[in-house]
Amino acid sequence: MTTFDDARVRVEELRELVSGYQAAYYERDAQLVSDAEYDDLVRELDELEREHPELQSQDSPTQTVGGGVAEGLRPIEHAERMLSLDNVFSIDELREWCAKTEASAGRRVDWLTELKIDGLAIALRYEHGKLVTAATRGDGRTGEEVTQNALQIDGIPAVLAGEGHPPIVEVRGEVFIPVAAFRELNEFQASLRPRAVEEYRARWEARPAASRGAFDEDAELARATKRFPDFANPRNAASGGLRQQLEKKSGLEREAGELRLHSLQMYVHGIGAWPSPPVASQSQVYELLAGWGLPVTPYAKVAASVDEVVEFVEQYGAERHSVEHELDGIVVKVDELDLHDELGMTSRAPRWAIAFKYPPEEVHTKLLDIAASV
Ligand code: NAD
Repeated sequence: MTTFDDARVRVEELRELVSGYQAAYYERDAQLVSDAEYDDLVRELDELEREHPELQSQDSPTQTVGGGVAEGLRPIEHAERMLSLDNVFSIDELREWCAKTEASAGRRVDWLTELKIDGLAIALRYEHGKLVTAATRGDGRTGEEVTQNALQIDGIPAVLAGEGHPPIVEVRGEVFIPVAAFRELNEFQASLRPRAVEEYRARWEARPAASRGAFDEDAELARATKRFPDFANPRNAASGGLRQQLEKKSGLEREAGELRLHSLQMYVHGIGAWPSPPVASQSQVYELLAGWGLPVTPYAKVAASVDEVVEFVEQYGAERHSVEHELDGIVVKVDELDLHDELGMTSRAPRWAIAFKYPPEEVHTKLLDIAASV
């Protein structure tokens, strides 16, 4: 057990580190450490706060939803808070969480198992079936408006199909860039560099010969590479793509921005601000949303036992690379909606869902990528 004074110093240090990494990740789409390192720091902080309850604080990153509103984007208040998810990192922890949840529910429950898409959350507010606003999660209460960009995403309808739409519903989903589209995006970035060099050359040629010196091809290519770098990973490319202000871009930047926007896709994973949907389970919510023309993941499955949940987790642990998008784990949800209300939520996450995080892969390569992008 750490002494109180040591714990206090370390808690402060961890909060500062984690807040800095969050600001880079959510507001600037930059990743300064790997997700696994970030998760380890949050976990260490959580353990210290549990060991020394006097050090707990409502503003700690363990109690809040990470994210904010970047400068230049319009803040939008969500009709219902958008939460994060608590994590487990082993099958034993997952089984323990399922057992605890069933004990709190006082009955056996059905589970809904889904892939945890490595993207960013979006809230689509539909009023009487019409899309009114789209927003990122932000700090969970206030997000960033991205309506114009969202309307460009394949699969996000401006008007819902079917009938019987509620006066207000917030459809929540994950925006991501599929792995194949991400590869093409980076190829396109690379193809913009020689075009940028040609632009620099044309500008150089337009200057009087006496004042222009020699054209340094290598230096100009380095400048173009800085302007159109490789994206480090699909998640950060998706976040920047959804939150970009395309109307302020022109020339090659605009071409790059348009492709980035058109590489985005979305799968829905929840609803908010609809107090009594006419269905009894989360899996039926997805059927309803699919009927309205919204894109639902093909990878969700109802599991009737914890063993089936574990089977799903193990299956996708082995088949992770056969999926069209990156995933960093599995989300396990209680399927029955009446239990969502009963189990409730903490300040940052629902008690009826958990994220199982897979152990990191190829940490070395990924870190090199991350360092190259910052
Ligand atoms: P999270 O990403 O671990 O989990 C919550 C989110 O999962 C939800 O908001 C939702 O957007 C998403 N999600 C994806 N698929 C889903 C599905 N099927 N159903 C429901 N939700 C689904 O939590 P977070 O609070 O957004 O971020 C924390 C995580 O982000 C960390 O664990 C780390 O992986 C990463 N992060 C990394 C850094 C870094 O510097 N490397 C910094 C901040 C955050």
